[in-house]
Order: sequence, then C-alpha cells, then structure tokens
Amino acid sequence: QLPLALLLSLLMAYIVWLATANRMSLSWQISYGITAREFMVYCQPLINSKTGDCNGIELLLRWHNPRQGWIPPDVFIPLAERQNLIAPLTRFVLREVVRQLPQMPACPSFHIAINVAASHFHNREIIDDLQRLWWPANPVPQLVVELTERDSLPEVDQRVVTHLHKIGVKLAIDDFGTGHSSLSYLKTLSPDVLKIDKVFTASIGTDAINATVTDMVISLAQRLNIGLVAEGVETAEQAVYLREKGVDVLQGYFYARPMPLSDFPKWLSEHKLT
Ligand code: C2E
Ligand code: CA
Ligand code: CA
Ligand code: CA
Repeated sequence: QLPLALLLSLLMAYIVWLATANRMSLSWQISYGITAREFMVYCQPLINSKTGDCNGIELLLRWHNPRQGWIPPDVFIPLAERQNLIAPLTRFVLREVVRQLPQMPACPSFHIAINVAASHFHNREIIDDLQRLWWPANPVPQLVVELTERDSLPEVDQRVVTHLHKIGVKLAIDDFGTGHSSLSYLKTLSPDVLKIDKVFTASIGTDAINATVTDMVISLAQRLNIGLVAEGVETAEQAVYLREKGVDVLQGYFYARPMPLSDFPKWLSEHKLT
C-alpha cells in the first residue's frame, strides 16, 4: 500500500515540477492547463445593428498560464488543433456555458456562438459532444457553431452538417473571405450565417480593394438569404456603414470587449435586450 501511495505522490510532484518551470512543451501545458483550470471562457456581445440590442454572445477561450501569463488564442488554438487538443478545449467551453446557462437570457432569439474546429466534425464527434453536454441542459438559447476556414473546411463531413441542422444548431462560417476561402462552401455547408472577418471591417473607408470584397460578400449573402455578422467593429463609421448595407449583427470593441462569461449578465442588465 505505502509504496504505491509514495509512487503516486512522487509522480504528482514530478508533474508539478515539469509544469512549473517551463519544462513542458506548449502542447503538454495545454493538457495540463485544462486539468489545472487555467482556461477561462470569455464572451463578446453580438449586437443587432438596427436596434442596438444585444441578441447573443460569442464564446472565446482565454488562457492564463501561471508561468507565462496570458497566452493569446491565436497562439494556442492553432497548436491545439495540430495536437488533437482542440476537442477537449471545446468541451471545456461547452461545460462552462452550460454551467452558466441559468444566468443567461432564456429566449430563443438569444444566440450563443461557439468556435468549433473543422477537425471536431470528424466521426461525428461534435454531435456526440453536443448530445452529451449541451442538449441535456435543455437550453433555450439558439446554439450557433462557428466553423473556421483556417485550413480544413473541405474535410468537413456534409452529413455532420446536415445532422447539426436537423437538431436545430445553426452553422456560421467564420472569417469568411480569408484563409482557404472557397465559394463552394456556400453550397456544400449551407451555412446560416457568414462572419465577415475583421480585416474587411477594418477596410471600410481605408482600403478600396478589401472594401469592395466586403460589399461583394454582403450582397452575396443577401442574395443567398444567409445571415451576416461583421466582427471587429471598432468605430461608429464602420457600424453605420455596415448597418446601412443591411448587415444584421455587429460585434466589436465599439460595443463591448470580450469579458468573462460570468460578467455578462451584469453587462446585459445595463443594456437592452430584444
Ligand atoms: P475569431 O473567432 O475570429 O474571434 C474574433 C476575435 O476578434 C477574438 O479574438 C476577439 O477578441 C477579437 N475582436 C473582437 N472585437 C474586436 C475588435 O473590435 N477589434 C479587433 N481588432 N479584434 C476584435 P481572440 O479572442 O483573441 O480569438 C482569436 C481567435 O482564436 C478567434 O478568432 C478564434 O478563431 C480562436 N478562438 C478563440 N476561442 C476559441 C475557442 O473556444 N475555440 C476555437 N476553436 N477557437 C477559438
Ligand atoms: Ca469566431
Ligand atoms: Ca471570426
Ligand atoms: Ca478572426
């Protein structure tokens, strides 16, 4: 008995030793960080461009590593995707939002958007996770899966997309117009929403070529009857422009910075809700 307990505590001490002095690779630190509760779920309000009301949130991961401080998602997400650690992180986000659902607005017009990597669609894994973690909570808000175009959208299994639609989950294509963008996704994925990347929002009034692409993405979505969300809205000028073009939903520092999910109910109580 004693030797086993001793062995276990030695092992634990070794893991802590590894973790505490940068002796682990970043991918090891991600796995360790999940169990050590170093990750946090933040959210950013989605604003109805016509009414100015908040009608949803996007969930965004944050990682505070006690050794290295804040590590930006742009650093750890691509790494997690390559190391097969993205699904555990997404499950963490799902569990956190489900835990905080009682504090969220309980109306079907309220949208909760979660970022999901294309690799999570393999073998219906995302469906299994939603069935296990999301649906048992009997959530009223509308779930939106934001799929990034980063590199692997062509791999997305169309049957999974069909299944998501069948169980009432909406699909958004994130960062539309960047990366390995292809217009064929509009057909193969039948997205409900296109998210206009912040590069395009930033181009309004400054960069003629990107601004033209922005206009084309907007009219494309409108002709195909696909919803539009513009991210990275930082100025009133951008907000007015996008609203006048008919973009339904706006997101950006102009309205609110990402905040801890637990701070959102208070923020919302200070803002109107449709
Ligand atoms: P994204 O999905 O395109 O998320 C929007 C990013 O824009 C967020 O960066 C957000 O903080 C930032 N942002 C919001 N408003 C503004 C603005 O007005 N101006 C500017 N310059 N930026 C704004 P963040 O949180 O650093 O996340 C970066 C990326 O990491 C995300 O881009 C997403 O691709 C990925 N990511 C974040 N959380 C998750 C997650 O839980 N799962 C997955 N798979 N990816 C995630
Ligand atoms: Ca996103
Ligand atoms: Ca985006
Ligand atoms: Ca982006």
